[in-house]
Amino acid sequence: MTTTATPRARPDWPAQLRAHALRVTRPRTHVLGAVHEHPHASADQVHRVVRTALPEITVQSVYVVLADLERHDLVRRIDVPGSPARYETRTGDNHHHAQCVRCLRITDVDCVVGSAPCLHPGSAAGMTILSADVLFRVICADCRENGPESTTAPASPPRSEHV
Ligand SMILES: [Zn+2]
Ligand SMILES: [Zn+2]
Repeated sequence: MTTTATPRARPDWPAQLRAHALRVTRPRTHVLGAVHEHPHASADQVHRVVRTALPEITVQSVYVVLADLERHDLVRRIDVPGSPARYETRTGDNHHHAQCVRCLRITDVDCVVGSAPCLHPGSAAGMTILSADVLFRVICADCRENGPESTTAPASPPRSEHV
């Protein structure tokens, strides 16, 4: 009898930490669990989840734990222009993201062409490309269904006024 791991199955976090030569601590296992349950959560959101189990934990500790886990490829940080970084446990596949310009929800988009790095800049003279992070700007199905009257903002990217 074999147990097949589905993507939503809860991984064995202590084993994962040990595999990366990281000490198993409650903050680490809880942060991993929270990020896994809430893909693309910000550090603040992760903190809110972890706090229910570890009331003493600070946002600062959550940032430190996330940075440790990111360094060991146990979580991936997604930098979204204009909003806080998001975190996820789906690492190593160089998948991309789509962000709805209206509700700001982020969803996974599989690699565009084959495996990482799936995109190459036209001219890569002398550069070694490690990854290609693409952020698609979209209007999600929910927002499209709600129609343009649900928001007064145009669908074009918001322009930031720099003075
Ligand atoms: Zn949306
Ligand atoms: Zn993702």
